[in-house]
Amino acid sequence: MRSKLPDSKLSIFAVMSKLAAEYGALNLSQGFPDFDTDPALIQLVTEAMQAGHNQYAPLAGNLRLREKIAALVQELRGKYYDPESEITLTVGASEALYVAITAFVHRDDEVIVLKPAYDTYEPTILVQGGVPVPVQLEAPYTTINWDAVAAAITPKTRMLIINNPHNPSGMIFQKADLERLEALVRGTDILILSDEVYEHIVFDNQQHQSVVSVPGLAERSLITASFGKTFHTTGWKIGYCLAPKALMHEFRNVHQNTVFCVHHPTQVALATYLEESRHYLDLAAFYQRKRDVFIEAIADSRFQFTPSAGTYFQVLDYSAITEEPAPEFAERLTKENGLASIPVSVFNVDGKDDQLLRFCFAKEEKTLLKAAAILNSI
Ligand code: PMP
Ligand code: GLN
Repeated sequence: MRSKLPDSKLSIFAVMSKLAAEYGALNLSQGFPDFDTDPALIQLVTEAMQAGHNQYAPLAGNLRLREKIAALVQELRGKYYDPESEITLTVGASEALYVAITAFVHRDDEVIVLKPAYDTYEPTILVQGGVPVPVQLEAPYTTINWDAVAAAITPKTRMLIINNPHNPSGMIFQKADLERLEALVRGTDILILSDEVYEHIVFDNQQHQSVVSVPGLAERSLITASFGKTFHTTGWKIGYCLAPKALMHEFRNVHQNTVFCVHHPTQVALATYLEESRHYLDLAAFYQRKRDVFIEAIADSRFQFTPSAGTYFQVLDYSAITEEPAPEFAERLTKENGLASIPVSVFNVDGKDDQLLRFCFAKEEKTLLKAAAILNSI
C-alpha cells in the first residue's frame, strides 16, 4: 500500500492526552476547557432537538445562524459577508481548513506555512499533492519575519496560511503585519487562508487584527472560525468559513462533497444564543484572568515566559532547568510530575527544538493553581 502521508505521526494532542490519562496527570496539553458551557446554550440545543430540527441542515448552514454571523462580523470587523453566498458552517474550523486547502491547492502548488504551525495544515496540503513551504520563525515567536516569508514566495505559490492569534505561541498580529502581508501579495494570485479561531481571545487591551478588515487581503482570503473556542464547546465541532463569493463557490463545492452539512440542532440553538448572549465580548477578559492567575502563580519558578498575547495557551521556556529536548521533557513531566503539556517543537520544522512547552489555561483556577504548584517544584 502506498501511503499518502508516509511521514505522518499520531497527533501530539492524542499522544499527550492519552499519556495524561494513563498517568493520572493534570492535563494542560490538548486545548479544551475543563469547565462546561453556559447551561442556557445546552438548553437551546435540547429545545432545538425537541422542536424537530433533527434532519439535514441546508448545505451552507442554517440561514438564521449565517445571518447572525454576518451581523457579528459586520459589527466587529466592519465588513459585510453575504449569508447567502459568503458564509458556510463547517464541522469545526478543522473541516473549514481541510476544505479550503482541498478546493484551491492543485498538484505541485506551493503553500507557505509559518512554523510553528497547527498540525493539520501540512498533511492536508500533502494529501492534495501540494508542496508545503515552511518558514520557520524564531523563538519565542513574538514577531513574524516577513522578509523570510517574502523570500519563500515563488511563481508557484498558491496559498499562504496564517494563524492569528497564534497557536501554540500566543502571538498576535499587529496592524503592521497585515500591511506587510498585503504588500507582499499585491499583484499576485496568492490566496490567504487565515485561521482566526481564537479571534475573541486577545489580551491587554489589544485588538484582534483580522484580514477581514483589510480590503486588499479580504478579497483573497478564506477565514476560519470556531464556536468550539468561543462558547467552550470543542466537542461540538462547529465552526465556519468566510470568503468572497467566487472563493466560497469553490469552497462549497468541496464542502458539499465532504460532509454536505453540519449538525443541525446545534446551529438552530447557536442562532438564538447569538441573539441572547454577547459572551464572546467578555471572552478576552475571562481568559486574561486565567492567564494572569497562571503566570502570577509561577512567577518565581525556574520557567521563563513572555505573557501570552492571545489564545488560551501559555508557552514556558525551561532552558534554565534542563537541556532535554521538549518531547522528552514533556513526557517526563507527565509521567514523573503529573502535569501534561505540549512540546512546541512538534509544530516546528523537523529537528528544530526550542525548549518550550505549551500549557492550556482554559481551566478552572484551582486546576491552574495545582499546575503552578507542580511547576514551582521543578
Ligand atoms: N486551528 C487552530 C489554530 C486550532 O487551535 C484549532 C483547535 N484545536 C483548530 C484550528 C480546529 O478547530 P475546531 O476544533 O473548531 O475544529
Ligand atoms: N486545537 C487544540 C489544541 O491546539 C486541539 C485540537 C485537537 O485535539 N486536534 O490543543
